[in-house]
Amino acid sequence: MVGIMADMNDARSALRQYFGYDGFRPGQEPLIHAILQGRDALGVMPTGAGKSLCYQIPAVLMHGVTIVISPLVSLMADQVAGLEGNDIHAVCINSTQSPEEQSVALAEARSGRCKVMYVAPERLDTQRFVEFAATLDIALVAIDEAHCVSQWGQDFRPAYLGIGDFLSRLPDRPVVAAFTATATERVRRDIVNLVGLRDPQISVTGFDRTNLYFDVIKAVPTVKRQWIERYVTARPDESGIIYCATRKETESLAADLCAHGVRAVCYHAGLPPEERHAAQRAFVNDEAPVVVATNAFGMGIDKSNVRYVIHHNMPDSIEAYYQEAGRAGRDGLASRCTLLWSDGDIATRRRFIEMENGNERLTDEEAQAVRNRRRVLLDGMIGYCRTTDCLHRYITSYFGETGEVKCSGCSNCDGEFETIDVTDIAVSIGKCVSEMGQRGRRQGEEARKYGAGKIVQVLRGSDAREMHDWRRLDSCPMYGRLRDVPDSRIRDVLSQMVADGYLAVEEGRFPLVWFGVRSMDMRRVGFRMVIKQVSRPADSDDHGGGSGGGT
Ligand code: ADP
Repeated sequence: MVGIMADMNDARSALRQYFGYDGFRPGQEPLIHAILQGRDALGVMPTGAGKSLCYQIPAVLMHGVTIVISPLVSLMADQVAGLEGNDIHAVCINSTQSPEEQSVALAEARSGRCKVMYVAPERLDTQRFVEFAATLDIALVAIDEAHCVSQWGQDFRPAYLGIGDFLSRLPDRPVVAAFTATATERVRRDIVNLVGLRDPQISVTGFDRTNLYFDVIKAVPTVKRQWIERYVTARPDESGIIYCATRKETESLAADLCAHGVRAVCYHAGLPPEERHAAQRAFVNDEAPVVVATNAFGMGIDKSNVRYVIHHNMPDSIEAYYQEAGRAGRDGLASRCTLLWSDGDIATRRRFIEMENGNERLTDEEAQAVRNRRRVLLDGMIGYCRTTDCLHRYITSYFGETGEVKCSGCSNCDGEFETIDVTDIAVSIGKCVSEMGQRGRRQGEEARKYGAGKIVQVLRGSDAREMHDWRRLDSCPMYGRLRDVPDSRIRDVLSQMVADGYLAVEEGRFPLVWFGVRSMDMRRVGFRMVIKQVSRPADSDDHGGGSGGGT
């Protein structure tokens, strides 16, 4: 527990004394302040924004030891070395150590000399460790990569589910602070609930990357290819990453670029390790400025002067996209992130989701739930491709950042797309959702909710049997009202309405569509909705904010 309360002046002194920094970065101060006050905290900041400091500063100021739960066993030794280098005594305990090493580390932790102790989440499950922890004076439990607790995230790690139990078995509950780089609203809720954070200070900051220009282009495969060739050959000395969906595509595109005189290498998990390492080395050393890769490329690669990241296909979530695109411009210089997509990409992604039987240990029901989650994540990605709003704003609000975001460059704000007015379709969808909600409903019952497919069926006047059953969906005034509009268009508008917040998808065994936070706006006079028709012509490649040298 906190002994003598430290305040933010102490925190600033510690920042200077131990780390040599003059001031806090956005987001750090409220989190450190809360922790020092004895309040739980949840920090959501992108990689490199400075999450570690948010628990390291309290660790040196609070009485007792800080336990850091981290999934990255391979990085623990580095983290300990970093802290020791700053005069903060730290240890780690993990399965790569010999029993003797572990005993020494445990003794250090108990001695009171050690301020920070790193452990893997799996260890919290062992009776021995729980008994040991009960004898410690624990100031703070910090949870790194806290999104691993959520099955909604990309890296679910079952051992994280044991953290809540571990905390409840401690004689005195310490302050608990969780940190993650990626957390949508749903993942954040899971972290709070599953870890058992108590009225945490939540701080979401730093997601906007103002030096990146975001660009979305819809194009068929042949045009995508031409666009990439033209873009890359016009910048032979710039470093770039091109992500493709398949290994075959990376090979053929890399070969094409080489034939055009570009020093490009190809990287995917199917290559022999030596070849992969050689490609990576060549790219990092700028011998080959361009790498054409699958999503196997990127983890742990630290190259700051990447001027562009091009996606040849649509990834399956905004999380994945932003992680990959975010490898551009680490040096802070203007860089460009272009996403090329086609309707075929959506079809392929959907097919992958349907085909996936995932983990064999899952029951049918669990597998179904996993598929549903993936569909929702994919819808977020499709929304990014189709939105006419600012792309910077789309991304930051996706990650839950609420502050005002000023666009620092994106193709939407540059207005480079054509739109079609779909107000009538949107209004019909809204009415239909409402009417369907009332059908077959008994008094006092909540409105009924349906999946997107059913809504489209009603609007199109489908003759399917369930239209005519006891719910009498065929008696909705909207039944058959959009008979002349293709299914795909209605679906496009519906997913855009979800992306824009007019509708929302509720999770559950099946994703159900209901009204979203902006639903009232649809009733306002002058309500209008447009969707993107086609992007600007894909052959006009050079325009402002790109990677062509700026600041
Ligand atoms: P994260 O855990 O969010 O990925 P880190 O905690 O590893 O990020 O911090 C990234 C880098 O930023 C580190 O080198 C760290 O020392 C530095 N850093 C963190 N906070 C500050 C600060 N207030 N001022 C200057 N540098 C900072």
